[in-house]
Amino acid sequence: MKLKKSDPQIAKLIKLETQRQEDSLQMIPSENHCSFAVREALGSILTDKYAEGYPSKRYYGGNEFIDKVENLAIERVKKIFKVEHVNVQPHSGSPANAGVYMAICEPKDTIMGMALQMGGHLTHGFKLSFSGKFFNAVQYGLDEKTHLINYDEVEKLAKEHKPKLIWVGGSAYPRIFDWKKMGQVADSVGAYLVADIAHIAGLIAGGIHPSPVPFVHIITTTTHKTLRGPRGGIIMVTKKGIEKDPDLPKKIDKAVFPGLQGGPHENAIAAIAVCIKEASTPAFKKYAAQVVKNAKTLAEELTKYGFNLISGGTENHLILIDLRNKNITGADAQNLLEKIGMSMNKNSIPYDPAPPFKPSGIRMGTPAITTRGMKEKEMKQIAIWINEVISNPGAVKKIREKIKKFCKKFPLPK
Ligand SMILES: *Cc1c(COP(=O)(O)O)cnc(C)c1O
Repeated sequence: MKLKKSDPQIAKLIKLETQRQEDSLQMIPSENHCSFAVREALGSILTDKYAEGYPSKRYYGGNEFIDKVENLAIERVKKIFKVEHVNVQPHSGSPANAGVYMAICEPKDTIMGMALQMGGHLTHGFKLSFSGKFFNAVQYGLDEKTHLINYDEVEKLAKEHKPKLIWVGGSAYPRIFDWKKMGQVADSVGAYLVADIAHIAGLIAGGIHPSPVPFVHIITTTTHKTLRGPRGGIIMVTKKGIEKDPDLPKKIDKAVFPGLQGGPHENAIAAIAVCIKEASTPAFKKYAAQVVKNAKTLAEELTKYGFNLISGGTENHLILIDLRNKNITGADAQNLLEKIGMSMNKNSIPYDPAPPFKPSGIRMGTPAITTRGMKEKEMKQIAIWINEVISNPGAVKKIREKIKKFCKKFPLPK
């Protein structure tokens, strides 16, 4: 209301973006719709406050209530993920991962992660990222046939290169990670093992995906993907991590502040506390289970229409499709689907012969559409539309109208 008067240009753009989200299906697997309560905390007066330091050890006065907010967030994260130490200050997922490097690595140390083209993340050692520039990054990949992590290769590379740090986790991996196997490999070479659960944190919190806690030393996550909170990042230290290095919690905290960041965003931290409270409810457990059921249904339906799914299906919230047999590039499919009102993203597939800016795949996910209340029946309908427009781009206009109507039945969280 105030914004409309003081800055009508921005107010108008926010309104248009709201309409875009309402009238179309958000199927980018790293996106979600957070609750109004989360947005209320995020838009609160807490954004005005400086709080460099940690609860009861601040470099600024006036943090009586801020300390309570941050402590609540920390306690809730500890409880839901069953970890020993939590830092909720990283501004997002990449800064959380930077905090881990800062805490346990020196420049030029050897680290290992899954290659970006195989479904890993930029921060796991990609050459253009700080993680590939400042460290000696060894990259592992997927088995060419099964599209599962090639655990034999991971073991061989770890023995050969003796990394200080190994990442497990990814952004385009539709299968359950073998935390235990990765734990054995890391232990056999004395490396720190970090699970980056950015994509699947909500599935783990909801109890539908196995937790890495017993097998890893550190966990990092974003808070805005399946966890359904504000944009943010968290670093956690497990019991196993503290057993390896009792100073690990202190090192992590020092790495985030003063190592990498100044003042924490306490409005975002309050919103994280709210989202973790929501994630602790039976309703969220049901939500997490439905996200996976929906992804499985969508995967089965698309397979029936001849789509070629990487790894043959999904066990989580995302699907990666090799479009080569459909004679369309990932970029063209993304544009076409955008026209009918489905937002998803082009993506490299494992061993993609095409260049990364024109990849052969498309990645889609169910977190946001499940938040809107869609179930298996709706997934079947979505698969029909995807197949229809890819086989017949002339049908764009007709399908667009149908999807607009369809969306009205599933409002965004209010
Ligand atoms: C999304 C993601 C991140 C980084 O998150 P940002 O908030 O975009 O910086 C880190 N790791 C993985 C595996 C991710 O998928």
